[in-house]
Amino acid sequence: MAGKYTIQLDFEACKACGYCRIVCRKHVYGQGSGFNKKGYRAFSALKADSCTGCLRCFYVCPDFCLEVIKLDGQAAI
Ligand code: SF4
Ligand code: SF4
Repeated sequence: MAGKYTIQLDFEACKACGYCRIVCRKHVYGQGSGFNKKGYRAFSALKADSCTGCLRCFYVCPDFCLEVIKLDGQAAI
């Protein structure tokens, strides 16, 4: 349900592939303005409030950068 989840994204591990943005039906992800130490313009959960906890982003991220967290503090998976 919207507004009950938040996203933790590992900025330094992100390789900016954009898969999270492609699979998210709620348009949560966008590319940030900063570059990480590897030189990638890492993604960011810009609209985490819209997350429904579907976990599509979690499963698609090839670099294990993402955690979907219920706002009660429990990981969604
Ligand atoms: S869990 Fe689903 S709705 Fe939430 S950010 Fe990931 S893909 Fe989008
Ligand atoms: S899928 Fe993972 S590595 Fe790719 S842009 Fe999203 S967070 Fe970064």
